Amino acid sequence: MLLSPDDDLEVRHVQPYEAVKPYRCPGCDHEIRSGEGHEVVVPTAAPDHRRHWHSGCWQREARRLERERARRPRP
Ligand SMILES: [Zn+2]
Repeated sequence: MLLSPDDDLEVRHVQPYEAVKPYRCPGCDHEIRSGEGHEVVVPTAAPDHRRHWHSGCWQREARRLERERARRPRP
């Protein structure tokens, strides 16, 4: 699921000791290994769509969303 700049998101850092199982990162489609610190991103309106991201991949995605927001015409 591609995130929209309109989504209200909650981002939480997962510490290496909390990362007890592997996830697939939607940013690069590679695995986040257990024991690897990463980010959990939860759309406030759709908590079921929460995804685990590599920290670096999430930083890129957050910048992309930021640029999209900046490009938008204001209502
Ligand atoms: Zn990634």
